[in-house]
This record gives sequence, structure tokens and C-alpha cells, in this order.
Amino acid sequence: MSSPENPRNRVLSSQYGPSSNFFTSDRMFAHVLKHQLSSAGYSYMRPLWQTLGEEAAGRMNALSLTADKHAPELVERSPLGDTIQEIRFHPAYWDLMQVAVSSQMLRVKWEPGLKARFKSEQHALGFGSGFLFALSESGQYCPLCMTDGVARLLDMFGEEEDKKRLLPGIFTEQASSFLTGAMFLTEKSGGSDVGANLVKAEKISGSTYRLSGEKWFCSNVNADIIFVLARTDESIPGTRGLSIFLVEKLLTDGTRNPLGIIRLKDKLGVRSMASAECMLDGTIGKLVGKEFEGFKMMAEMMNLSRLYNSVAAVSAARRALIEAYQFLCHRNSFGKTAITHALIRTKLEELTALYTGIFYLLWRAIAALDRADNGDVRDAALLRLLTPMIKKTASETGGYLVRECMELMGGIGYIEDFVLPKIMRDILVLPIWEGAGNIMLLDMWRATVKSDGFAVMCAEIKETASLHPEEGKAFLTELSILQSQKEQLENASQDILEASSGPFFERLFQLYRDTVLLQASPDDAPWITLSLAYFSKKSNSSRQALSEPLSVEKIKAMMGWVF
Ligand SMILES: Cc1cc2nc3c(=O)[nH]c(=O)nc-3n(C[C@H](O)[C@H](O)[C@H](O)COP(=O)(O)OP(=O)(O)OC[C@H]3O[C@@H](n4cnc5c(N)ncnc54)[C@H](O)[C@@H]3O)c2cc1C
Repeated sequence: MSSPENPRNRVLSSQYGPSSNFFTSDRMFAHVLKHQLSSAGYSYMRPLWQTLGEEAAGRMNALSLTADKHAPELVERSPLGDTIQEIRFHPAYWDLMQVAVSSQMLRVKWEPGLKARFKSEQHALGFGSGFLFALSESGQYCPLCMTDGVARLLDMFGEEEDKKRLLPGIFTEQASSFLTGAMFLTEKSGGSDVGANLVKAEKISGSTYRLSGEKWFCSNVNADIIFVLARTDESIPGTRGLSIFLVEKLLTDGTRNPLGIIRLKDKLGVRSMASAECMLDGTIGKLVGKEFEGFKMMAEMMNLSRLYNSVAAVSAARRALIEAYQFLCHRNSFGKTAITHALIRTKLEELTALYTGIFYLLWRAIAALDRADNGDVRDAALLRLLTPMIKKTASETGGYLVRECMELMGGIGYIEDFVLPKIMRDILVLPIWEGAGNIMLLDMWRATVKSDGFAVMCAEIKETASLHPEEGKAFLTELSILQSQKEQLENASQDILEASSGPFFERLFQLYRDTVLLQASPDDAPWITLSLAYFSKKSNSSRQALSEPLSVEKIKAMMGWVF
């Protein structure tokens, strides 16, 4: 039934139209990446990002919504009754995979020529594509993350023969020949507490083992290359007794490696990708590196995944923010455009400042990873503390941002025709996966006492403060409070230490975030200055009764987004 011809009978103004390219619209992304990358690196990626940005705003978006609505299924048997246990995906999933492969997010890191050419910035290049990809599809970003992690472990610890055989399948340009990765750690007895795991590995001969036992959460269960933690000697408890095994989907004779899928997980979000419970029963695995050093090696993959997790969180927050911003620019309420209401401007100021903070901190962490991989010991120490810090804060802040953006879009924000509900469901896994918030706090404390991470962070804060004397004074006061709190924590009981770690690391995060913002390129001024002003105002807010909202022009400048 058609509605009466009344021009006011509509949700948004007729000028409403979403961005047609998430790369060319995002001034903040372009500024940061241009500043961080070499001109050769930026020039190489630019056309790829131009294409990916257009896909993410258009075709990919439709594919992602479809793949989310048609979750993978476990096909137990062939039509002739043979047990096959295959995962059936909607074709949209494979179309998304081709977009990922064509974007070169992994190729630029692993194809030997490109790897050598961009050695000093390979993570920034790959994560640039990952950020744009995850603006539309975060379910599949999980398998892509683990594929990169698998490549990293193969590269660092694998045998030459395995590298030669498997890496080309990771840097391929065709989705049909793409080999994907997975990591099986979690068991019923232990997720956070990986040292409680039970899966056994019995030697057959040489480095070949037979694995048995149950793995409780196995994402991308259809992977071709899987790294599995298992125990060769049950008398050695905890993580000290874990070794790492390379498990391939196909054995050398081309037959399937036995790996039983008990059932697929019925997940709240990231539904496009298959997560399962698995039974290892005679599964053939190859010992990688030395026996009992499995956890240490797996930490390389976990820490990389934590940065992927943060990229996914920041990207989801950006998508929600731009959806809400655009809606508010074209929605009328109480006789004016929604964005002109003071309470809406105040909320957008808060959300944009929070976004800018996690966005800049994320790219600082990615730069630290690139430098650490190229031998920079200071950045390696910083990264040790920064990885759990950004993992916790990006996933938690991202979740808050998405929820608030949903509310800013009113009823439409809650309806599945729009992307917001999917983003909300997808982002909620990020604080849990790869270590929940408390586990990140414990890890930050370990990094503080067992590495130079805290000292390097403090030195960077001091150095930045000395270059910016006006803001620097408050930074130094806060830093000295944190340094004396650290000493108190070192002498506290374990219970007091754990109970105090949340507020302590929240303060340290805020101070370091503001430091990184202060270091930013002057070209970034509109959003940097306004975000720093917001954080400073917030820290003094209890003393102020009155508050003036930013103008619409300033909110737009802060957003760093053009349609
Ligand atoms: C969608 C999805 C996909 C996943 N994919 C994979 C995968 O591919 N591979 C894989 O190995 N795992 C995977 N996981 C598992 C995931 O990494 C774990 O769920 C996570 O590490 C938490 O472990 P757990 O579920 O055993 O919870 P628990 O370890 O029981 O933790 C429960 C709560 O207790 C808290 N807690 C635990 N110990 C402490 C402590 N000492 N102090 C304070 N608080 C504590 C935690 O912070 C958490 O909030 C996946 C999970 C999900 C939801």
C-alpha cells in the first residue's frame, strides 16, 4: 500500500545517502596511515584501499549482511551416506573471501618480493586493509587473523619444507587456492587457564604425533593449517608441559586428517564464520620447534591476534559512528536537524574523542609491532605492555561506542535491516576472545614487572611532556602519581594488587593515550585538539557546573569524515 503523498512522511531527508567509499571518506585514516607509512608503502596500498573502500561501502556490505543471516552448516554425510563432516557456507562467504584475498592484506606481508620490500611496515600495510575490510565484515576477519598468525608461526618456527609448501597458499591471489589457518587452544578445562588443558600427543615417529582429546572452541574449523596445543608428558603440569603441533586438513597422501566435528557453536555474533567443538582422535600432528615450548611459540600468534582483535573493535566502532553521524545529519526532530541538539552534539563529542583515542593508540601499537619485528628493543618492550592494554580498551570502548550509536539512531538502530544490530552482536565477542578483560589486566601487570614496558612508556610520556610544556605539566603530575602507585602495588598482597589493577591501568591507559594524541602530526589538528580538550575537560568535570557544547562545524571536523 503506498503512503499518502506527504513530503514529511519519511524518516530521513531526501539528501541522505551513505558514503560510496570508506577509504576516500575517512580523512583520519588517510592522515594517520600517510604519516606512519613510507611513501612507497602508501603508494602501493592506495589503489588497493581505493578499491577495498568502495567494496566495503557497497557490495561487501550486502554480502556481509547475507552471510550473517545464512550461518554455515555442518554437513555430516554425503548423499551416498559417507561421513564427510564438511562445512557448507553461503556463496556470499566465498565472495567475501575473494575480496579479502584481492585486497592483498596477507599477500603484502608474505609474498617474498613484497615482504622484502615492505619489511619495516608490513603490519601497518596489512592492518590498513584489515581495518577497511572489518568496517563491513568482522566474522571472516577472524579466519584471516588466524591465517596471518599461522603464517607468522610457520615463518618463525616452521621447517623450510613446510614454509615452501604452505606459505604460497597464504599469499595467493585466488580465493580458490587460499589456505586458511586456525588455532586450537581452548578446552573445557581451560580457556583463560590454558595450562589446565588435557589434549594428549603420543609420538608415532620422529616429529610425527597422534593427538587425542577434545577442543572446545575452534573457530574457522574448516581451516587447512591448524596450530594445536597438546601435552606429550602428563606429568609436567601447566603451560610448561604444552607443545605445539602443526595439523593439516589433508595428510601427505591426500586423505583427510581425522578430526571430528562434534557440533557447530550457535553464536550471538560473527555468525558468517564456523566455530565448532572438535574431537581429536588419531589426528596427525607435527611437532613444531622444541617439545614443551609450545605456549611460548603460541604466544606469538596470540599477541598478533590481540592486535587483530583491536583492529576489529576500532573498525566496528568507526562504522557505527559514521552510521549514527550520517543519520543524525539527516534526521529531523522537534523542528530541527537532530545533530543540532546540544545533547546530541555533546554525545558525539564524547564518542568521537573516545574513538580518536583508541584509533591513535591502535596505530601506535601496530607501529611498535613493526619496529619490534625489525629489532627495536624499546618498542618490543613497549609492545609487551601495549598489546594487552589496547586489546582490553579497544574492545570495551568499541562495545560502548556501538551501543551508544545504536541509541543515537533510535528505533532504526535496533532493526536488522540496518547494519547496527550485526555490528553490536559481532563486537561483543572481542572482549572475550583472545583473553577476557581480567586476563588482560593480569597480563599488563606481568608486563609491568617482568619487562621494560612500563619504563619505556613512562620515558615516552616524559619526553612528550617536555616537548609540549603547556599540557606537559599535568601529564608529569599524573605520571608521578602512577609511578608511586606502581611501587605500592609491588608491595601489596596478591588480592589487593588484583583488585587495584583495573583503576591503575585505566589511568595509565588514559595518560598514554593522551601522550600519543599529543605526538600526532599537526595535520591531524582538528580532531586531535578537540579530543584532547574533551579529555582534559572530562578530568576536571566534577569542578564545573556549566558546559558549552561544541558547534556542529566542530563536531564535523572532529569526525574526520567526508561523504
Ligand atoms: C566466538 C568464539 C570463538 C572462539 N574461538 C576460539 C578459537 O578459535 N580457538 C581457541 O582456542 N579459543 C577460542 N575461543 C575461546 C576463547 O578464547 C575463550 O572463551 C576465552 O579465552 C575465555 O576462556 P573461557 O571461555 O574458558 O572462560 P574462563 O577462562 O572460564 O573465564 C571466565 C571469566 O573469568 C575470568 N577469569 C578467569 N581467570 C581469572 C583470574 N585469574 N582472575 C580474574 N578473572 C579471571 C575471565 O576474565 C572471564 O571473564 C572462542 C570463543 C568464542 C566466544
